[in-house]
Amino acid sequence: MTKYLSLLLLFLFAVAPGQSAPEKRPNIVWIFSDDHAPNAIGAYGGRLKPYNITPNIDSLAKDGMIFDRAYVGNSICAPSRATLLTGKHSHKNGKFHNGDAFDHDQQQFQKILQKNGYQTAMIGKIHLNGAMQGFDYWEVLPGQGRYTNPQFITEEGKTEYEGHSTDIVTDRALNWLETGVDEEKPFMMMVHYKAPHRNWLPAERIMEEYRKKTFPEPETLFDTYEGRATASHVQDMSIDITMRMQGDLKVIPGSEREKYLQKYKPEGKDLVRWKYQAYMQDYLGCIAGVDENIGRLLTYLKDNNLEENTVVMYSSDQGFYLGEHGWFDKRFMYEESFRTPLIARWPGVIEPGQRNADLVQNIDFAETFLDIAGAPIPDDMQGKSLVPLLKGNTPDDWRKSLYYHYYEYPGVHSVLRHEGVFDGRHKLIRFYGTDVPDGEEWEMFDLKADPQEMNSIYSDPNQSEKVAEMKTELSRLKEYYEVPDDMGGLPKIIRRKKRAPANAKTLKFEFKKGQAVAGKDAPFIDGRGIELTVPFEYAGKDGVLFAQGGASTGYSLWIKDGQIQWSVSRHDGAKTLSSAEKLAPGSVTVTVRQEKSGNVSLTIGDKTEALGNSGGAFPNQPNESISIGDDSGSKITSYPGETKFPEEMGPVSVKLLK
Ligand code: CA
Repeated sequence: MTKYLSLLLLFLFAVAPGQSAPEKRPNIVWIFSDDHAPNAIGAYGGRLKPYNITPNIDSLAKDGMIFDRAYVGNSICAPSRATLLTGKHSHKNGKFHNGDAFDHDQQQFQKILQKNGYQTAMIGKIHLNGAMQGFDYWEVLPGQGRYTNPQFITEEGKTEYEGHSTDIVTDRALNWLETGVDEEKPFMMMVHYKAPHRNWLPAERIMEEYRKKTFPEPETLFDTYEGRATASHVQDMSIDITMRMQGDLKVIPGSEREKYLQKYKPEGKDLVRWKYQAYMQDYLGCIAGVDENIGRLLTYLKDNNLEENTVVMYSSDQGFYLGEHGWFDKRFMYEESFRTPLIARWPGVIEPGQRNADLVQNIDFAETFLDIAGAPIPDDMQGKSLVPLLKGNTPDDWRKSLYYHYYEYPGVHSVLRHEGVFDGRHKLIRFYGTDVPDGEEWEMFDLKADPQEMNSIYSDPNQSEKVAEMKTELSRLKEYYEVPDDMGGLPKIIRRKKRAPANAKTLKFEFKKGQAVAGKDAPFIDGRGIELTVPFEYAGKDGVLFAQGGASTGYSLWIKDGQIQWSVSRHDGAKTLSSAEKLAPGSVTVTVRQEKSGNVSLTIGDKTEALGNSGGAFPNQPNESISIGDDSGSKITSYPGETKFPEEMGPVSVKLLK
């Protein structure tokens, strides 16, 4: 207090009547990364803290304030960035999905800062196509940008720089500070790293070091999603199934990783553990690069006498799963991706070493920048300035709950659409849409009792009052933020992904003989194991019971001379496994189970036999659909006789295995 009082007195005495105050408004350096989980920042604690990966980010927390409850409104890259610039939720700024166009003409905080005498710059990844507005200088990565030798777009055109994206974003930022800034005016500079976004490629100098490390696993690495609604069961973002050996984990011919896999051939959980380690080595290596570069920025500010009058803030467009629930990626309203890091250093204003536990959200960032600059905050921005919180004075009427809404479905990673409310302890989530059973499913978690969100208590009769209370709060928030009633429609902005069908991860199917099934409704077998159960009448005639795909990928279950045959086609031909026993005439039920490893077992009645290995999981999704009681179109294998199965058969059930 004394310090501020003396500063104030100094100020009063220094300014003579009629003389204008010298320009003292603070500069703002906003540092933003992509997909940085709070769990991967030392200052947040957690299992990775002992590895000291983020000394420079940690120093910002030590000298300033760290927010333990900072969240996003829609956990995905480009929509989060649209919120950052507009101070509005997706339904107000129009950016629901990564693929939507962004309306640059709309109100954005930097336009207001500019009008109020700030110099504004945006350098790095913004992921909003089109020319930026409101920035005196902008130099951005096209789309996602590249890790190696990235290109940048400016108003003048495209330039390519040699080196690693994280280093170059910093170089370009320092270049602007050196050459672009008028020292008479305050500035707002946004430095946006692409790292640690998928496919997690660190600079080589760091990669070598990180590939020698081993990191602790999360407790929920082998989550089975029991006690939760459909969404977590059908997502496509698991380390086990979704994460690619070559594209994500850089298992390329001749690499150390490839040699290891060839030598030890880990399978099942061991393989997931190995993939998790490889993922962490590269992801955390990317973070180490970001941190190193933040160190360069902080050193520059210090060496150029900018440290005292510059607010430095660090955040990310959302959190990320580091193996929790068996996942990578984001999107869900669960803590790991809903939460985002937020740290601010403001010498003389923020008391060093503060931790804040108020509920803040990325709708607050734009207002905060404006407030720091003393610029007006438009009424239609939906968040609140964090400046009072930074000063240690949280207003009594500060928000008590947060609204969340994720829209990008159908889409990559198959996370069902959902919205929800979080009050700091209870979280209520509503999944909705055509692929949700009955069109709507709910979950509620008590994070105090269940911080990992493993057991939904939505249906617990003891919680019915709390559920009702949270539903009321959700309605209140939707009214407050003016969320349109029916967000289920949105026909304009929903784009179906070309390849992955809407039911990409539906786990159970049933098909009847003679039924026509469109390709998009066929089981999505890419990378999966499969279990097929077929009841039928056997009267001594051969034929195909069930087939999916064709000569290049797929499988068929058929009968030859009374013996069950399981054929799997791959690009290099088909392999057929046969049962030893002959079928006896009458009603039969056959179950074939092919694990992801390719191991096949056959159950006829109550007898199970191992058929051998068909060569592993399916390498891709077949273009051809399924045929029931036949193999029409392109055939899985060359059948010796008639393919049509002449007898009665019951519905075929198909289960996809993890
Ligand atoms: Ca992101």
